[in-house]
Amino acid sequence: MPANLIYLDNAATTRVDPRVAETMSVWLTKQWGNPASLNHAFGQSSAKAVDKARAQVAQLIGAKTNEIIWTSGATESNNLALKGIARAHRGQRRHIVTIATEHKAVLDTVHWLEGEGFKATVLAPQSNGLVDWAALEEALREDTLLCSVMLVNNETGVIQDIQAIGELCRKKNVVFHVDAAQATGKVDINLQQLPVDLMSLTAHKTYGPQGIGALFVRSDIALQIEAQLHGGGHERGLRSGTLPTHQIVGMGESYELAKALMTSENTRIRIQRDRLLKHLMALDGVELNGDLEHRIPHNINISIDNCALDLNTLTAVALSSASACLGGQSSHVINAMKGHSDTQSTLMRISLGRFNTDTEIDFVADYLEDQIRRCRQGKR
Ligand SMILES: *Cc1c(COP(=O)(O)O)cnc(C)c1O
Repeated sequence: MPANLIYLDNAATTRVDPRVAETMSVWLTKQWGNPASLNHAFGQSSAKAVDKARAQVAQLIGAKTNEIIWTSGATESNNLALKGIARAHRGQRRHIVTIATEHKAVLDTVHWLEGEGFKATVLAPQSNGLVDWAALEEALREDTLLCSVMLVNNETGVIQDIQAIGELCRKKNVVFHVDAAQATGKVDINLQQLPVDLMSLTAHKTYGPQGIGALFVRSDIALQIEAQLHGGGHERGLRSGTLPTHQIVGMGESYELAKALMTSENTRIRIQRDRLLKHLMALDGVELNGDLEHRIPHNINISIDNCALDLNTLTAVALSSASACLGGQSSHVINAMKGHSDTQSTLMRISLGRFNTDTEIDFVADYLEDQIRRCRQGKR
């Protein structure tokens, strides 16, 4: 990897914070007990470390420690939440509501459940990416079991009004799941107040390691979830498998850091983002996708018309066109917002993070302007 390649793809994954890596390394090199081996000190000290991490994760989102179930990431958390609720209520209510701009880990799981006999309503968003309130109200019916709406969109950074949607779900007796993979450390989450039943989390979008996540499962409503992985009965029977202590410790540390840094980091990144955005929006034929006000400061998503820019040829900056999972395909998120597929423009998602410097942002502003100009002149 070239040393001077500027990383602006933080929505795909973030660099592990060195403080997190240091904490993790102890659990790879010096400590190795299985946290379920409680009859000796090796296991006991791992179990203590897992408990601490559970508390760190719970604290960032205002949950209780016993409401955190470890998983391998947000994909698994989404699968466990949606399949777990649906399968536990088989033969009762069979209707599921979600939004067309959700992550594929939600959409594809919902489609799979349709194959199992569930009915789904996938709502189109407003053109700014926010939930269409009237459509949502209409979609939640007598037989609706479950509604899934993400907190922060991974492509546009748009923030949904989870409080209001949750209140509506409560009123209609619908289980409410929120994919918060892109939200932790960026927006305040207080589950003591938010009417959310299930929330998916991951470490690697918040400067922790890949391959570890969690599902918040609210304890005070007697939610029934059917386990999707069977085995040793770990995590109160909801998710079997030996707990990966080093990963868990890393997630805990990354969430504690996120809590401490969130306010100052958001302020700094917003200044950088606004400077870059202003520069790009001053160019002809550049359009911002997604609402600017209800949006995390880390995200710029633009369509550049009259320009077929291949992002692979950008040798100075690493960014994506849409989500990392899509490769070269067009974006289902942007298409859903526009109501059609736009093949004429270049789609660019620029996602800023903890380690981007002012110098990098200023360089990228000029660099992208130059690349867009060359592309339009056909001089690439
Ligand atoms: C990254 C992401 C996921 C998938 O998370 P993994 O931990 O990589 O499985 C799910 N939802 C959203 C919104 C994401 O950004």
